[in-house]
Amino acid sequence: MNELKIFAPATIANVSCGFDVLGLCLDTVGDEMIVRKIPESGIRISKITGQHLPLEVEKNVAGVAALAMLERLNSEVGFEIEIHKKIKAGSGIGSSAASAAGTVWAMNELLERPFDATELVAFAMKGELLASGTAHADNVAPALLGGFTLIRSYEPLDIIKIPSPDQLYATVIHPQIEVKTSDARSVLKQSISLQKSIVQIGNLGGLISGLYTADYNLISRSLHDEIVEPLRSILIPGFDEVKQNAIQAGALGAGISGSGPSIFALSKGKATAEKVAKSMSETYQNLNIDFDVHVSNINTKGCRIL
Ligand code: ADP
Repeated sequence: MNELKIFAPATIANVSCGFDVLGLCLDTVGDEMIVRKIPESGIRISKITGQHLPLEVEKNVAGVAALAMLERLNSEVGFEIEIHKKIKAGSGIGSSAASAAGTVWAMNELLERPFDATELVAFAMKGELLASGTAHADNVAPALLGGFTLIRSYEPLDIIKIPSPDQLYATVIHPQIEVKTSDARSVLKQSISLQKSIVQIGNLGGLISGLYTADYNLISRSLHDEIVEPLRSILIPGFDEVKQNAIQAGALGAGISGSGPSIFALSKGKATAEKVAKSMSETYQNLNIDFDVHVSNINTKGCRIL
């Protein structure tokens, strides 16, 4: 096998009460990539469609993640990468993560799997370091492992895959406005009250437990963010209304996807998730803000061959 065409999924990081530690993998939105072995050693990005992104290996998250793996391999192999972007950059559903995760996943398959999932996450995190200045794993981990992932610790890297109930669906709406990552970071506070952290920990434990036991009611009771959402939501026009509409339409809960501006909702069943999509869309139609909306099951596998 010398070439793979793959699907590199979009992901939702944070998931309300899991700021910086929780993420989930989507199935109906993601990039396509082709990764092939080449005779010469090193990494080459030969083609990018769908977006203007650098072809220079050191400036593209796919290239940086690939180089991190090559360095560990210590051999003379070489790969060529094509990126066909479908995820919009800066949308908050892991555009950079999809490229980094997809690249290392495909390389590992072509090399007959010398690395385990945690090692792949570590390579892909080098791409995230380039994109955002921090080597976070909350998008690349679900893209590589699938399902929900919990990053229990970074040093050492300890990632736990959490099962998700079959009927759990995500709705994601991306209002076409720009939220600068620097703004999304600067509104955060460096310390939080004991009271807030107690509520957040209770909800995170509840969410994890609800996912394990397929208790949709518990998932719903737990989908709250005491800490970040109240600060960040002011950067997203219509946030409160979209969230309210989603819950009124039957969603279990809703919140900011990653650092925004996308807003996600979780629902039981596809029909409800679609109703939620319609209801969330109406807010942005009324505000005259363009948007994309996606409904997806939880992708339990992560990257896959097309
Ligand atoms: P998201 O919030 O969806 O993860 P970001 O907007 O944070 O996406 O990351 C995109 C940033 O990473 C942009 O500055 C973009 O130029 C850079 N980048 C470099 N390579 C890629 C790539 N292959 N795919 C997406 N973004 C890339």
